Amino acid sequence: MGWAIEIERTTTPKQKPKVGELGFGKYFTDHMFIANYDEGQGWHHPRIVPYQPISLDPAAKVFHYGQTVFEGLKAYRTSDNGIQLFRPNKNIQRLNLSNDRLSIPGLDEELFMEALTQLVRIDSDWIPGEPETSLYIRPYVIATEPLLGVSPSKQYLFMIILSPVGSYYAEGINPVSIHVESHYVRAVEGGVGTAKTAGNYAAGLKAQEGASAKGYSQVLWLDGVHRRYVEEVGSMNVFFKLGDKVVTPVLNGSFLAGITRDSTLTLLRHWGVAVEERPILIDELVEACRSGELVEAFGTGTAAVISPIGELSYEDERLVIGGGETGPLSKRLYDTLTGIQYGSVEDPFGWMV
Ligand code: PMP
Repeated sequence: MGWAIEIERTTTPKQKPKVGELGFGKYFTDHMFIANYDEGQGWHHPRIVPYQPISLDPAAKVFHYGQTVFEGLKAYRTSDNGIQLFRPNKNIQRLNLSNDRLSIPGLDEELFMEALTQLVRIDSDWIPGEPETSLYIRPYVIATEPLLGVSPSKQYLFMIILSPVGSYYAEGINPVSIHVESHYVRAVEGGVGTAKTAGNYAAGLKAQEGASAKGYSQVLWLDGVHRRYVEEVGSMNVFFKLGDKVVTPVLNGSFLAGITRDSTLTLLRHWGVAVEERPILIDELVEACRSGELVEAFGTGTAAVISPIGELSYEDERLVIGGGETGPLSKRLYDTLTGIQYGSVEDPFGWMV
């Protein structure tokens, strides 16, 4: 079924920020997308309107029980002034998996793509063209029914907002220091860790605060049961190069199935690199680091694409990886993935839309 999206253009376009001031998620474009869901009616009234505050009943379920999901992807400007999205079909599929886990009605994939592409086109002059800048796209669903009973909402809003974002690495890709969190946990198998839902991020703040106070940029999460298996790092998936092979935690139902993770695995296999998706004990990494077998580690995610890890702190030990420098595999993955995203490297997998 085709979706007719109503469009109301702004009459007061905003001043665009300077590229150097962009940062991440600080500025929003002139328009936003909204659609409603009402039980019995399904998703309806899709519209693009000027970016503006929304008004909600104080009893709206999202405020009380956190029934909400979101996604994150980017639009890139190519050197010939084209605009590309990276694997957006994966984001709609994941949004619907998150919806299902949070008892939110699924979204029509066609509506999602129409909404996304029309909104990005309308605000396309907000997509910066400087190296490594992009337009971050935040689709999300919130439960709006004003009812304090704990049950799935009968009303929702699906919205998309857009934010021009600066280069993640102002001075080239740089390794970060990571604190291995052995007290707090983020999610457990059977919980909502595989869903992109607000509560997971709220649950992570405390540990992140502690790590930041000690000078670490992110937390490496261990599993919630044994606190021995590596799961993910901040809001990224994580990879380790042990000798010639690359290992990453197997999707076990307690952390997010990243789209950059999937793309990294695809590229590595395409290059003939031996990869293993399996449970990884933190003790194995500590041993491998001491013996020199652990030569590279990096996080993968939409925001930074590839984020090399130069140091892990675990209990009282500081483990330096690869001399604290960006390793060749991290660099090659970063250059290839960003090259595909910005159109300077051939896209053998048909990822760009
Ligand atoms: N884990 C978490 C918790 C995340 O929030 C993200 C960012 N979406 C990722 C991993 C990486 O996922 P992706 O590669 O799809 O951005």
